[in-house]
Formats: sequence, structure tokens, C-alpha cells
Amino acid sequence: MSNILAITGRPNVGKSTLFNRLVEFKKAIMDNESGVTRDRHYGFGQWTGKYFTVIDTGGYVMGSDDIFEEQIREQVKMALDEATVILFMVDCKDGMTDMDKDFANILRELKKPVYVVANKADNPDLEMQSSEFYALGLESEVFSISSASGSGTGELLDQVVTHFQDDDVENPEEGIPRISILGRPNAGKSSFLNALLGKDRSIVTDIAGTTRDAINSRYKLFGKDFILTDTAGIRKKSKVREDIEFYSVLRAIQSLQDSDVCMVMVDATRGFEAQDMSIIALADKYKKGIMIMVNKWDLIENKESNTAEHFRKEIQEKLGNPLSYIPIIFTSVLTKQRIFQAMELAIEVNENRTRRVPTSELNEVMLPEIERYPPPALKGKYIKIKYITQLPTKTPSFAFFCNLPQYIKEPYERFLLNKLRSHFNFQGVPVKIYFRQK
Ligand code: GDP
Ligand code: GDP
Repeated sequence: MSNILAITGRPNVGKSTLFNRLVEFKKAIMDNESGVTRDRHYGFGQWTGKYFTVIDTGGYVMGSDDIFEEQIREQVKMALDEATVILFMVDCKDGMTDMDKDFANILRELKKPVYVVANKADNPDLEMQSSEFYALGLESEVFSISSASGSGTGELLDQVVTHFQDDDVENPEEGIPRISILGRPNAGKSSFLNALLGKDRSIVTDIAGTTRDAINSRYKLFGKDFILTDTAGIRKKSKVREDIEFYSVLRAIQSLQDSDVCMVMVDATRGFEAQDMSIIALADKYKKGIMIMVNKWDLIENKESNTAEHFRKEIQEKLGNPLSYIPIIFTSVLTKQRIFQAMELAIEVNENRTRRVPTSELNEVMLPEIERYPPPALKGKYIKIKYITQLPTKTPSFAFFCNLPQYIKEPYERFLLNKLRSHFNFQGVPVKIYFRQK
């Protein structure tokens, strides 16, 4: 699956306003009190049942006035080339500018669907003016929208999502779990793969400053087959830091979308960072299996018996309660400490993600829990949960059938989730529950 929507355009046209409108932020995840700064450059969106990742390129590129120098132009192009669909945003109030034309020249060369989005069309007059942007010479029709009010965005998204794949597209290697190794540059991803696969897979080539694509390796461990996706070698010989970041983030997102389990590698000497949080929040949205590998554990000096526990607590606080299901393992690729346990854990997470609990067992275990602690009555009405069944979805989700589904509040939903997790092993797996009328 490669569903990436990039919003691009010169500064101040309204990219981040549209981004915020398209992206769903689960408050509990993104706004927990941990103080992890939110990374607003990419997030999860959905429209008419299609899922995609939205990227605001303004966060990465277009930072300076000399942005159109040849070298940078090349890199913007490369970065945009990773997106599935590009929104080229312009501003109806300002009208067409020279910078818009520069942008159009770059975008015209990309073999990608590009939509011209004329923003700030707050009223019919401004909407009329948006037709001037046909002069940019892009193939797309011009969509006039108002990011501020949201008007016009539905029509735009209807078009955009036609380029996106459904979640369940046929994959020739269907059935073989895909595990992706994600994490910040230098966390130890390539070293990890080299240690597992036993050969030096270093990768830098000389072609126009880039390296190679993410590599998929078939791998067998403990008698089980899976595919490891490595985004590690994605590096560019670039002088512009932001672009490297942007480029590697895009690749990581593509690989994330394609995988069943994400191993997020964190450098122990740097600690858990905002970017780690962003990728995990995204993986949770896509309902991927997730685990955290705290690597370079050998470099942590003066370890005591509770050092790992402290570290774990700190990460868990940053993750917040909704993500507390994510297991954390401490590794050293250098000394080969726990690297096979890490793979074992990834395999277990994958099994948890495909776990199916028989309805009889589910009810035998959960109904007594519910009886002991029933949903609180609301407005004098008693809520009765009658039975529970796991839904036939790819990732674990459960329907609780009851008389008044709308009366069940979030704390009780959390209680049920915790109980489900305590009875059945869903470690590392996002679990959804739904209340349905019966
Ligand atoms: P970016 O630099 O392209 O990300 O632009 P921003 O999203 O930060 O928006 C720049 C300014 O335009 C902000 O003051 C927004 O409030 C404003 N803006 C964004 N969308 C609209 C819109 O649809 N109508 C109007 N009138 N203002 C908008
Ligand atoms: P990547 O960018 O995530 O692929 O990271 P690399 O695999 O290239 O590793 C970055 C650096 O960290 C290299 O110099 C590795 O030798 C080193 N490194 C990787 N894992 C460990 C580890 O567990 N302990 C120590 N001390 N160094 C490590």
C-alpha cells in the first residue's frame, strides 16, 4: 500500500491549515502530558474508507528564500516523487505569484497526480478568481477550497482517494508477515539487519546523490518465514538536512504502511524522541503491530538492576495510556544482546495481531468481569451487555452487544479494553472495541 498525500506550495498559502483539517489527531495520543513535542509534519487521514498519510512539505522544505537554487530544487523534486498524490496549493487572495510558477515548473516534471488547490476561496468572488490558476499549466482541474471553513475539501478528497489503494490489496507474498525496522538515523537499523542476515549489506551508491530503495529480505527464524523491510540505507548525499529527514520519513511511512509489525528502534544514548512518538502514533493509527527496541544498551554506563525499568517507565509515560500496550526491549546490536529475542517478540506481536478468540471463550471470560463491574447507569437507565464477539477484521476488534450502546462512556470502554488485554495476549497490537445495539 502506498497512500501518501503531500501538500506543497509556497509559504502562507494555507498548507498547515489544510493539513490540520485532513489529519485526525487522537487527542489522548498526541496531547498527552509527556511534553513530547508534537510533530505536525505528517499524520493519518481517512476518507470514504480509504486510509492515507498526509504530509505537509512546508515543515521540511521551503524553509528559506534561496530555496530554488538548483541543488535544492532537485531535492524537493526527489522528495515529492515519493508521494502518491500531490496537492499544489495556491492562494486566491494573493493570486498567482512567481514562486507559484516556479513550483508549477517542478511539479509538471513529476509523473505524479498533482491537484491544483486554490485556497482561501472564502466567497464566490474569490472562487471565481481561482480560474486564473489554470494558467499554471498543470493538467488537473483547479479545486477551489477554503481550508479555514473546509468548504470544497470533500470534492477534492473524492478525487484524491481514487489514486489510493484499499487496505486489502492482493499482495503476491500474502500470508508472510512483513516486519519493518523503523527509527531515526543512526539508531542501529542497518547494523541490526546485518547482524541478522549475516552479510554486509551496505548500500550507498553514487547515482545522483541517492542510495537505494527500501530492501525487502525474506528471512526465516524459529521455523517461521517473514519479510524484513529495511529503510536504513535510505540516505542521500545532501547538504540540506531537512530534506534528508523528509526523504527518510517518507520512506519510513511507505514501509510502515506496507508492514504488519513495526519495530521502532530508539538509540538509548539519545532517548525516546518526538520523531519516535510520531512514527508510533502513525503505526497505531494504521493498526500495525508495534514494538520498541531500545538499542545501544551497551553504551549506557553504570547500569543497575533497575536502569532498564526506569528507562521503560520514562518511555511509557511519554507514550501515555492508550499506547501502553507496546512492548519495549533493550538490545545491543554490537554485542548481539537480545537481538534474537527482539525478533521473537516481533513474531509474537504478529501472532497477537492475527489472534482470534472464539466467541464462547470470549463470553465465558468477559461476561463475569462485566457482571462484577457493570457499566454505570446513566439517566436512570441500566445498561446491559449481552454478549461479545470478535469481528472478522484483519486486526483485533470486538463488538459488545448491549441495549443502550450510546450510553457507554470512555472510562468503561477503557475498562473493557484492559480486561480484554489482561485475559488475552494482545501485546503490541492496537485493539478496537465497538458497542452495538441488540
Ligand atoms: P502554510 O505556510 O502554507 O502552512 O500556511 P498556514 O496554514 O500557516 O496559513 C497561513 C495563513 O492563512 C494563516 O493565517 C491561516 O489562518 C490563513 N488561512 C489558511 N486557510 C485559509 C482560508 O481558507 N481562508 C482564509 N481567509 N485564510 C486562510
Ligand atoms: P541506522 O542509521 O539506523 O541504520 O544505524 P547504523 O546501523 O548505521 O548504526 C549507526 C552507528 O551506531 C554505527 O556506527 C553502528 O556501528 C553503531 N551501533 C549500532 N548498534 C549499536 C549498538 O548496539 N551499540 C553500539 N555501541 N553501537 C551501535
